Amino acid sequence: MEHRDLEKYIPIETFTGETEIDDITSEKKLYVETYGCQMNFADTEIVNGIMKKNGYDITENIDDSAIILLNTCSVREMAEARVLQRLTEIKKYKKNNPNLVVGIIGCMAERMKRDLITKKGVVDLVLGPDEYRRLPSLIDNLIDTGEKGIAVKLSRVETYDDIMPVRKEGISAWLSVMRGCDKFCSFCVVPYTRGRERSRPLDGVTREISALAEEGFKDITLLGQNVNSYKSGENDFSDLLAACAKAVPEVRIRFTTSHPQDLSMKLIETIALYNNICKYIHLPVQSGSNRILELMKRNYTVEHYMKIMYNIKNIIPDVTLSTDIISGFCTENDDDHKMTLDIMSEVRYDGAYMFKYSPREKTKAWQYDDDVDEEIKTKRLMEIVELQRNISEEKNKSLVGKEFEIIVEGISKKSDKMLFGRTDGNKTVIIPLNGSEAGDKVKVKVNKGNSATLFGEAVSLN
Ligand code: SF4
Repeated sequence: MEHRDLEKYIPIETFTGETEIDDITSEKKLYVETYGCQMNFADTEIVNGIMKKNGYDITENIDDSAIILLNTCSVREMAEARVLQRLTEIKKYKKNNPNLVVGIIGCMAERMKRDLITKKGVVDLVLGPDEYRRLPSLIDNLIDTGEKGIAVKLSRVETYDDIMPVRKEGISAWLSVMRGCDKFCSFCVVPYTRGRERSRPLDGVTREISALAEEGFKDITLLGQNVNSYKSGENDFSDLLAACAKAVPEVRIRFTTSHPQDLSMKLIETIALYNNICKYIHLPVQSGSNRILELMKRNYTVEHYMKIMYNIKNIIPDVTLSTDIISGFCTENDDDHKMTLDIMSEVRYDGAYMFKYSPREKTKAWQYDDDVDEEIKTKRLMEIVELQRNISEEKNKSLVGKEFEIIVEGISKKSDKMLFGRTDGNKTVIIPLNGSEAGDKVKVKVNKGNSATLFGEAVSLN
């Protein structure tokens, strides 16, 4: 039934309204600002790919741009508030240059639709995550007729498989392999803003990952809202991961985000089997209480989750683990909260993304009573953060004396005499300059660790 709600979100329309645009400069310079999760960053690269193919230049200088797009996130109220605040600032650019085109794309576009144009005078274009191919024509139409454009249809098939994203040069790349989500967790707006699950064909992904390896990328993350429910013909996510590992044996491969319901034994065994698949698993648990998990509609129990953890640790003993936790979900009491702390202590994650619950319109939980006091939510969140900080610190300190291979990413932000790189397990390691450069593999010995970072020295250059 929740799935049927999605059908309500399929208008495709062009809004005709007053516009201040007289004539738009022929200069085709696009500036995109990205908010939210890695999927949005990967989508910005797709947007840049579409726009470049249509003759636009990508600029990182907002003052230089003829088109400003904000690629937005709706997951938390705070994320939306930041974008609305940013729109107020962007008004001054529009005042200086009335020909400037301002667009909102991504999840907020999908959620707020026409309201963004009617309530925020500065906005000319609103495009949801499945409508990016229409950007060039909507911009042309805006220039020709002055019509503001809205395109917010959600697709069951769009994967942008044929679009070559325009990425920044570097060591790491995102590679989106599936879009959308069918899980409908009760707190999450994603299925409503990004639509139903669909996967790219396996050979499209392996072709792209091979091209990325040729371009010099060394660390590639396969992305999906629910990446391990990837399905293309007979191939599941384990098959895709294995095919990628074989296609680029010199490249590290990661993936995010997984759902516990779809984390199969086959996937754990595939991760263990290939040297270049990182031994790092991010598996959101959200709560340690079965009662809360049921209210969240997560479709697993603590017992099921712990069974997965047991299998992972057994099959991949040196695995690095991280998770997501929400504190203060509707009706959460002290016992539920304690169960969350207990599961954290039992699993001993290396890291966690921890948030306070905030209700999102259109979700199932929007109808629940958001009855945990803000003060209690904050107190519980702080306890969760503190516990995780201690566990991370203990785990990192236990690595002192151990050796790891890192891929150097560049000069450390805190000191130009130090380099930083990442381990297979996604831990940041700081080492003194040693002549190696971004992209080099270096064997390091850890001699210090805190909750966030490892410090070490090079043992050998690979
Ligand atoms: S699995 Fe749940 S939390 Fe993750 S995107 Fe889907 S609905 Fe949201």
